[in-house]
Amino acid sequence: MSLNGVNQNIPGSEYTQDDQNRSNRSVEDATYHSGLRGPNNDFSVPTMEELGMKATTPHRGGENIALEILEDIIQNKQYTATFSKPDTAPTAFKPASTCLLSPHMHFGSISCRKFYWDAMDVVEQWEKSGKKATHPPCSLTGQILFRDMYFAAQAGIGAYFGQTLHNSKVRYIPWHLPSKHQPDTDKPDKSVAIKGSYHVDNEEAEEWFTRWREARTGFPWIDAIMIQLKTEGWIHHLARHAVACFLTRGGCYIHWERGAEVFEEWLLDHEIACNAGNWQWLSCTAFFSQFMRVYSPITFPQKTDKDGEYVRHFLPQLKGFPTKYIYEPWKCPIADQKAAGCIIGKDYPKPMFDWRERKEICLRGMKAAYKAGFHGTSEEVINGTANNILKENFGDDIEGAMTTTDEERAGEGEKSSFAKSPSRKKEVKVHKKRGQTTLDKVITRKKIKTDDDENS
Ligand SMILES: Cc1cc2nc3c(=O)[nH]c(=O)nc-3n(C[C@H](O)[C@H](O)[C@H](O)COP(=O)(O)OP(=O)(O)OC[C@H]3O[C@@H](n4cnc5c(N)ncnc54)[C@H](O)[C@@H]3O)c2cc1C
Repeated sequence: MSLNGVNQNIPGSEYTQDDQNRSNRSVEDATYHSGLRGPNNDFSVPTMEELGMKATTPHRGGENIALEILEDIIQNKQYTATFSKPDTAPTAFKPASTCLLSPHMHFGSISCRKFYWDAMDVVEQWEKSGKKATHPPCSLTGQILFRDMYFAAQAGIGAYFGQTLHNSKVRYIPWHLPSKHQPDTDKPDKSVAIKGSYHVDNEEAEEWFTRWREARTGFPWIDAIMIQLKTEGWIHHLARHAVACFLTRGGCYIHWERGAEVFEEWLLDHEIACNAGNWQWLSCTAFFSQFMRVYSPITFPQKTDKDGEYVRHFLPQLKGFPTKYIYEPWKCPIADQKAAGCIIGKDYPKPMFDWRERKEICLRGMKAAYKAGFHGTSEEVINGTANNILKENFGDDIEGAMTTTDEERAGEGEKSSFAKSPSRKKEVKVHKKRGQTTLDKVITRKKIKTDDDENS
């Protein structure tokens, strides 16, 4: 039956203005004008080419593939029974050092229960034969439990789990580029939710955020991870740690909600619970509080990839750099840069800041914000006086957003975290040190003195 005569009410080319995916298309979306029938008039699922996009990820979906991956893991009894997450390499990419089943769990092509119980069977057999297995939180089953932990936390907190404002468990830190909020009409008290846009409180922070997102920070480890994320849609857990720490408390002092939005867009395995929860962990705003432990973008990757294979793969312009300078190419003598065919500042950016200096600034800011002890439900955060109170009490030690223009505030149509503080100076109640709702006491950490841990 020919459907060619059927009127499908196809609008004109003005659709491109509202096309959210425009920047991702190399040619026009061929399926749009052909309507429901598709370009071949056969109602088939459109191909990436027909959508005008190029698939760059090597990862493939489907139940068969998921079951094959799981089977390979389970067959490797030693890997399954002795898996220890901190020992897996974030720099391994062919193949990855972890299971890479998270996108399948997200899309439902494998069940977390099957994954868990298949792994449990292997662990039990392994231990019955007298061999030592690993246990949660580091073991493979421990990883799956982390996933459920975040889902449970999200269920407990509800709609505000993914943001700071109105979330009692999330610490308030005056990060740069804070979210704009809008009244949540679903809530009886009309409380406010983030709406995907943010205040540019600081031009430099905005530039750093753009460079982080576009893999142009000038720190090869960070840029290589961001390229893998954008092109492949998956990065190792510790690579997520590295870029999340760098964006928030370990470099840029930019709001974790900005980073979570980028991950939401690019991760194949994106889950609100796991994404927001892990960003809170990494920014030390919830779940974890040891903000003195900062990941170095220079020494951390050297632990598992001294030669910089990962960086050379994702940043081919640095392929010929001497190993000594692969993580700090700006220090490379110009003669070696020429020999490598890559001039720093021309073919690859200079670092966007002095990382060690930034780390110290961030640490001072974190220390002061922790001392103040505000959370997403603190009165001062909700009524918008928190920033100025912090500034008045901690002065220059408080890095981050201090003022927002009146126009920006007016645009929010509600009390924001950036409203002017009352003129009288208010003393910050320094909250007594009590165990934050974290896993700090549950997880025993080996104290390893490294550059990434130099302040612990
Ligand atoms: C900033 C940040 C954002 C993240 N966002 C997401 C996200 O949106 N979706 C997501 O599934 N995971 C997220 N994670 C957690 C973790 O990085 C991925 O689940 C893991 O890297 C997936 O790779 P894998 O399947 O090889 O994991 P494996 O190490 O093989 O672990 C097996 C499974 O356990 C679960 N798991 C492992 N670690 C975690 C963890 N820390 N939190 C929750 N589940 C875990 C995953 O379902 C994973 O597939 C995030 C981590 C960070 C630091």
